[in-house]
Amino acid sequence: MSTRLWHDRATSIKIDGRAFINGERVNAVSGATFDNISPVNGRKLTQVARCDTADVNAAVIAARAAFEDRRWAGKSPAERKKILLKFAELLRSNGDELALLETLDMGKPIKYSLSVDVPSSARCIQWYAEAIDKVYDEIAPTNDDTLALITREPVGVVAAIVPWNYPMIMASWKIAPALAMGNSVILKPSEKSPLTALRMAEIALEAGVPAGVFNVLPGFGHEAGSALALHDDVDCIGFTGSTRIGKKIMEYASQSNLKRVWTELGGKSPNIVCADCPDLDAAVAAAIGSIYFNQGESCNAPSRLFIEASIKDQFIEKALAMIPSFEPGDPLNPATVMGAIVDHIQLNSVMGFIESGKSEGARLLAGGNQVRVESGGYFVEPTIFSEVSTSMRIAREEIFGPVLSVFTFTDLDVAIREANATSYGLQAGVWTSDIRKAHKAARALRVGTVHVNQYDSDDITVPFGGYKQSGNGRDKSLHALEKYTELKTTWINLA
Ligand code: NAD
Repeated sequence: MSTRLWHDRATSIKIDGRAFINGERVNAVSGATFDNISPVNGRKLTQVARCDTADVNAAVIAARAAFEDRRWAGKSPAERKKILLKFAELLRSNGDELALLETLDMGKPIKYSLSVDVPSSARCIQWYAEAIDKVYDEIAPTNDDTLALITREPVGVVAAIVPWNYPMIMASWKIAPALAMGNSVILKPSEKSPLTALRMAEIALEAGVPAGVFNVLPGFGHEAGSALALHDDVDCIGFTGSTRIGKKIMEYASQSNLKRVWTELGGKSPNIVCADCPDLDAAVAAAIGSIYFNQGESCNAPSRLFIEASIKDQFIEKALAMIPSFEPGDPLNPATVMGAIVDHIQLNSVMGFIESGKSEGARLLAGGNQVRVESGGYFVEPTIFSEVSTSMRIAREEIFGPVLSVFTFTDLDVAIREANATSYGLQAGVWTSDIRKAHKAARALRVGTVHVNQYDSDDITVPFGGYKQSGNGRDKSLHALEKYTELKTTWINLA
């Protein structure tokens, strides 16, 4: 579709910002709403229900009732599978609408909403649907006169609290395994990007997910989010977001019913390129492509680049040559690869980091400016700093924007030590032709995922999550099913 056609569709698209509880669109109990502003042009898209404790209570009652009468948990895995496969199919057939909502809501290029966000979300739902009738329980090796069954049961009411950077994908990583295992789910999308989550709930109902099983509460973290995390009848929280809020969620659980808390938090991922890297062009393309993908708003973005000193000049020259292809453009133009920053708060935060890099003495090699101001949207140039020291803010804190910090090293052990010298531990990259060096580095890096001679591979089949303050859970893969199940032992006397 052309840029013009996307703009035409953007002006005519119908957007409903009401909450979704018990199979119905509803206003917040208080009647309150908040403005949903598009980062593409700074204009208001719609009003969204501002849910708070009263709405959380209503959603929990609906979700609990659905769980207790077993309208979903009581279906056979094969029945749940059929419905979830339909859900995935409907996400695909509504793909243009969902992609447009995603782009208007959070600013990412339509090219990627269409080719990444919608298909990945559908594949995630489909993958867990296909998995659920292949998961077997266990019988323990006990004496002949007893039988000990070890069975997985759904946890009950699961709250999923998710961020704004990949709204559909982050939601799918939680709701797919939770629904697959028979739980009821209450999803709280970010206040910055609630629109696709609300449509997903309508589509799930259309696919046959019974009313009350999948509810969506838009609203602010300190209102709807904290009320969910403090609620005594929520059994489990799957949280993705910042480390700061992840800590709060754990506090809320301890202040209430000790609900299970799974966290997927921030990152400051290192990418180490040795002089014996097998393909320098590929290393440059991955380093640059991965930091600027999604405007740098990715938890696993390789934001700290460690280059062996002898290849630094060559690497930087090639990197700078790639920068023009990442100039921010109109997110509704299908050729654009770098879109808008999600809102003015995040824009100011990213620009604040750029200013701190300059004032703390890092060398600005590219970018550093806000651009396309006349569009009314929020755009930042792809930015590179070199001569960054480990004490600078841009070296220590997660920026969550298109800013790369470059360090040099002469000793791989020192580079690994510096790479690990962060409270985060999400992902890392290492580039070398020497399998021993690669393996040694992969073992030494304290992160959930290590990439060797690549950075951007990803698939629903592998776990995604972090060490240290990057969180305690793993989304994706069969391991995610464990988060949303209880293990029960049943002893049967056969004597
Ligand atoms: P955030 O922590 O500000 O918000 C995340 C969610 O928590 C939102 O829905 C928000 O409304 C809610 N929230 C905020 N305050 C709350 C409170 N007091 N109680 C309950 N809920 C509350 O994060 P963000 O800015 O939306 O997202 C960016 C962060 O997410 C980054 O740190 C990024 O690294 C991280 N992230 C991690 C992963 C991962 O898999 N590890 C994936 C994507 C994003």
